[in-house]
Amino acid sequence: MQITALAGGVGGARFLRGLLAHLDRSPDLAGSTITVIGNTGDDITLFGLRVCPDLDTLLYTLGGGIDEQQGWGRADETHSVQGELAAYGAEPQWFGLGDKDFATHIVRSQWLGQGVSLSEVTARLAARWGLPDRGVTLLPMSDTPVETHVVVDRGEGPSAIHFQEWWVRHQAAVPAERFVAIGMDRATAAPGVLDALRNADLVLLPPSNPVVSIGIVLGVPGVRDALRGTTAPVVGVSPLIGGAPVRGHADACLSAIGVESTTQAVAGLYADFLDGWLVDERDAEVEVGGPRFDPGLQVRALPLWMKDVDHAADIAGAALELGLELGRQGRHAV
Ligand code: GDP
Ligand code: CA
Repeated sequence: MQITALAGGVGGARFLRGLLAHLDRSPDLAGSTITVIGNTGDDITLFGLRVCPDLDTLLYTLGGGIDEQQGWGRADETHSVQGELAAYGAEPQWFGLGDKDFATHIVRSQWLGQGVSLSEVTARLAARWGLPDRGVTLLPMSDTPVETHVVVDRGEGPSAIHFQEWWVRHQAAVPAERFVAIGMDRATAAPGVLDALRNADLVLLPPSNPVVSIGIVLGVPGVRDALRGTTAPVVGVSPLIGGAPVRGHADACLSAIGVESTTQAVAGLYADFLDGWLVDERDAEVEVGGPRFDPGLQVRALPLWMKDVDHAADIAGAALELGLELGRQGRHAV
């Protein structure tokens, strides 16, 4: 089976690690391959280095090097470089970068500086983390730099700040008026991205942030059309449980684009291509068969908290099962 998934950082990575665990325990699915299309709208240049937070979270999580508590960054990390930078008064100091993590950004920046594309850089980093051996290809959504900025108004008229400044420094507490994906007008999908969607047997949307992770990937020219046109069923997992994000500030992102924090409203953002949707049991009564779901959408309820790899594997298994069921019924491209 060829599975293609769109992904942000922590939510996407934990789901995909569960998917790998599920494949490992399913002999009938042996030989399956996964292509992951990672969000690069979170990317930022710090201290002259190109940092790709979502791609790195995917690499470290799938490669076994993640800080499990935090959900991002490296396990067993030290912060000597950051301490030295602070001693020089170098800015910004609100973005945490550990020493091991710095090495990733240094080598990425070196290769990019030599003219190597972000796709190729990502493939080289992924090789170190053993992703190809596990059947995983990690693609950035685009080789063109795209950066999500947030338009805020703190009483002095609107101004735009980088997404990371809004998310990490301000903890999304400054009301956002809108998000702007700088560079998207010039962006093209990275090599392999559109084919991976068109030629997949199943497309998965992990429980990533619907606005600033999945929403940004969907903005890459051709991606949305490929999802509408693919013959593969598209199955998504709700990032909201009981109307609230499990972690992070997805509710603040949804409110900025005028969308309610409900799992139906999130599914509605994908209505033009979504075939199946997993919701948490807690949302089941109001959700399944509820009037606000598109009648064509197949909704299933199960516990959606990925409290460990086993639970994430169960969720991924349910997504695969729904996808197989939908695949047998045959998808009508929208
Ligand atoms: P980020 O880029 O690191 O913010 O990560 P993503 O965009 O991939 O995922 C963030 C989303 O994952 C948030 O909206 C969370 O609600 C969701 N999420 C995190 N943990 C879980 C979980 O255990 N279950 C579900 N269903 N969603 C989760
Ligand atoms: Ca992210």
